[in-house]
Amino acid sequence: MAQPLVFSIQHFCLHDGPGVRSLVFFKGCPLRCVWCQNPESWSTERELGFKAHLCINCQTCVNVCTEKAMLAVGKRDRKRCRLCFTCASRCPTGALVCFGTPQTVESVLEELRPEYPFFRSSGGGVTFTGGEPTMHAGFAAELARSLKSEGIHLAMETCGQFDTGEDLQPGKPSTDDSQSRYQGLEGPVWDILSNIDLVLFDMKVFDDAQHRRLCGMGNAVIKRNFRILATLAAQGRGPVLWPRLPIIPGLTDTRENLEGWAGFMKENSLLQLTLIPYHNLGESKRAWLDIKPGPKLKASVDKALESARQVLAQEGITSYPPGEEGWQGNDIQRV
Ligand code: SF4
Ligand code: SF4
Repeated sequence: MAQPLVFSIQHFCLHDGPGVRSLVFFKGCPLRCVWCQNPESWSTERELGFKAHLCINCQTCVNVCTEKAMLAVGKRDRKRCRLCFTCASRCPTGALVCFGTPQTVESVLEELRPEYPFFRSSGGGVTFTGGEPTMHAGFAAELARSLKSEGIHLAMETCGQFDTGEDLQPGKPSTDDSQSRYQGLEGPVWDILSNIDLVLFDMKVFDDAQHRRLCGMGNAVIKRNFRILATLAAQGRGPVLWPRLPIIPGLTDTRENLEGWAGFMKENSLLQLTLIPYHNLGESKRAWLDIKPGPKLKASVDKALESARQVLAQEGITSYPPGEEGWQGNDIQRV
């Protein structure tokens, strides 16, 4: 696995957990959802992006490349390129950009610490997102431990595709202190979860074959991990579990998909979720990274969200827009 990379840290966010939050975006994701809004999060490696609309054709990038890898403006020989990012650092307009910064736990903490007063006054904290934070499990676990020791509320957004280890079964409720909450649950992912207060679990496509077609992998592991986390949360042995469903018109807002997830949630004693409206910002990012365009999707409209809300309500599920869940940080501390 490559060195842990963070591709962005954003502050003053209001949609990914309670209160005012800073979001730490980890680079690397096992899924390839056709509607992905952050394709720069896919690879675990550093990447060079080219924003053609910012280029003034000054030729600096071609001239500074000692590897002769920049054949012409916007045209790179990837075999020759050794990803030194000299061209990006010399580009006067920011048209060439490096996605992914190697970070240490301390460098991330340094950036987050000035935000602590805002977290404390608003009941907010830090949310790990990406990408998939569990792809850098050791680093994420250490960062989570450090933030927790500084009293920070922690949420983690996950696609659910992570390895929980062999033969993992949620055991009996713990009767001991928090040290034993994860008794029998070992491995890097549990090292992260033991310091997480809230898991924002992304559900996408209920049908396994459709999920494979639209997200690049089946969803058996995702459903299994959801069940485990739901069981642990119900036993008071894990973080609060909160599902989120992106509404992509024509793909995830079908009655069949909504009813499938609603039934699954009820089986797992969960009756509330967040609906995430689709926007197509990912399209320009695909062009920057020379990734094939995704399918043309209709932008999500209020009508699609309203209709999804109604179908879910008929199934007994209450849905919320992002940031309107009514969470209070103190309500969702891990127990
Ligand atoms: S990243 Fe380095 S090697 Fe690659 S094109 Fe830019 S200057 Fe050349
Ligand atoms: S250095 Fe930047 S602005 Fe100049 S030609 Fe290269 S990409 Fe364009």
